[in-house]
Amino acid sequence: MSDLNVVSISEAKLPAEPFVARHLIDGDWRQSADGSTFDRVSPSHGSVVTKAAKGGARDVDAAVSAARLAFDKGRWSRTSGKERATLLLKIADLIDRERERIAYWETLESGKPISQAMAEIEGASDIWRFAASLARTMHGESYNSLGSDMLGLVLKEPVGVVSIITPWNFPFLIVSQKLPFALAAGCTVVIKPSEMTPATTVILGELCIEAGIPAGVVNIVLGYGDPVGTAMTADKRVDMVTFTGSTGVGKAIVKAAAGTLKKVSLELGGKNPQVIFPDADLESAVDAVVFGVYFNAGECCNSGSRIIVHEDIAEAFLKATVDLSRKVPFGDPLDPSTKVGAIITPDHQSKIDKYVRDAADAGATVHLGGEALTVPGLAGQFYQPTIVADVKSDMPIAREEVFGPVLSVLTFKTLDEAIELVNDADYGLSAGVWSENVHTCLEFARRAHAGTVWTNTWMDGFAEMPFGGVKESGQGRELGKYGLDEFLEAKTVTMRIGKTRAPWVA
Ligand code: NDP
Repeated sequence: MSDLNVVSISEAKLPAEPFVARHLIDGDWRQSADGSTFDRVSPSHGSVVTKAAKGGARDVDAAVSAARLAFDKGRWSRTSGKERATLLLKIADLIDRERERIAYWETLESGKPISQAMAEIEGASDIWRFAASLARTMHGESYNSLGSDMLGLVLKEPVGVVSIITPWNFPFLIVSQKLPFALAAGCTVVIKPSEMTPATTVILGELCIEAGIPAGVVNIVLGYGDPVGTAMTADKRVDMVTFTGSTGVGKAIVKAAAGTLKKVSLELGGKNPQVIFPDADLESAVDAVVFGVYFNAGECCNSGSRIIVHEDIAEAFLKATVDLSRKVPFGDPLDPSTKVGAIITPDHQSKIDKYVRDAADAGATVHLGGEALTVPGLAGQFYQPTIVADVKSDMPIAREEVFGPVLSVLTFKTLDEAIELVNDADYGLSAGVWSENVHTCLEFARRAHAGTVWTNTWMDGFAEMPFGGVKESGQGRELGKYGLDEFLEAKTVTMRIGKTRAPWVA
């Protein structure tokens, strides 16, 4: 461990008081109906940083009622695209104003580095601005070709009341990949953040209110997946659920939503491969592999946790990746120089460790790490940068989401073999290829079973570009113009012009 780059506790101060988080229901900040609360312990510092209202069925019922009424009364759905865009732009400005505050609480609750949290909040306000631009482009179709006495219109309408359920790994960014698009479409919402990261969603609620969102349009219920998430999924007054998280919970949501046949949009896990050909810019590829696997401590649906390297360069590539990994600053997330922070919970740390130990027991070789990381001065949990080679594609470490700073290394000989390895997966979120040959890159892009393909880069994202997965990585798309379409229904209006209708009964 001594040759790793560890950042000890920084000067940055912990809060004097924990963040107090309450539900936002019908424009009011409320305690739970039964008065219960829960604490969030910082994964890096080990102290309580948030005290939150712990929601139950009655709180969800009140929030859904408010969202339903706001929608049915047209408080938001019947405003013009211009009005909605103006409000979303105001919220984007408020997010920029509060960037440091949001990033601070995001870091304390999630354990991610403050510099990364700052970048994410900047990215989030950009998404709000992009969604605002879409609010004014929402339109349907007209059919002037149905005959001289007929006109067909396809109206685009908001889906209705949407339940938004988000995870702990990118709390502010992920809610910003859903909420502004739902609002741009004219929907009303009930949001449940992960119980591990409620604070920044509550701040976002404050900003929505400050910007002037009408009461009942944005509601937030804090608490656990069961009973809060389950009630938000099963309630028949909810028209759609949009969820980001594990594939297991995604499947449970599909089953629960089937009872009322609501629309479901899912962004789930990934086991994302990067394939490296010998003709690649190897220096850049090594850096991208290191970034891809350690970014957000690997707790990332887009984690590049599986690399597939050509046999001819595998040994040199592995050595370069191990060497660069040692230089990555792991440690105190409040220190601006840190690139990798804490692991979300002790249980999750044990889960990561088990994947590595099981792989070693099954014959894989641990080239770096494979253990907890001690960060002087910090009581939370951290995991060492870890690289496991000689991995076979049937090992759990090669097939399942480890969700930690753990890289699996496989090798290939031919393009066909590489594609076979890439597609031999239950997931299909993203995939990457490294080669200076454009034909190799294009063939890879066309044959990889993935929602996103990166060529000679990794994890670049843009508000304009849709994001989502195939196979067990989900259904539906976020971002881009597709991000708005998710929250729209098509209504057919068929109009007769003049008294030309022939009677059915003579
Ligand atoms: P979950 O999928 O369990 O949690 C995501 C969100 O869903 C949370 O808000 C959670 O609430 C809520 N939830 C849980 N159960 C239900 C339910 N039955 N109905 C409705 N909502 C529910 O993720 P975990 O936090 O348990 O992480 C487990 C694994 O999931 C990770 O190890 C990782 O592999 C994967 N994951 C993938 C993510 C991604 O971005 N694709 C994000 C997070 C996790 P609560 O937290 O209160 O239980």
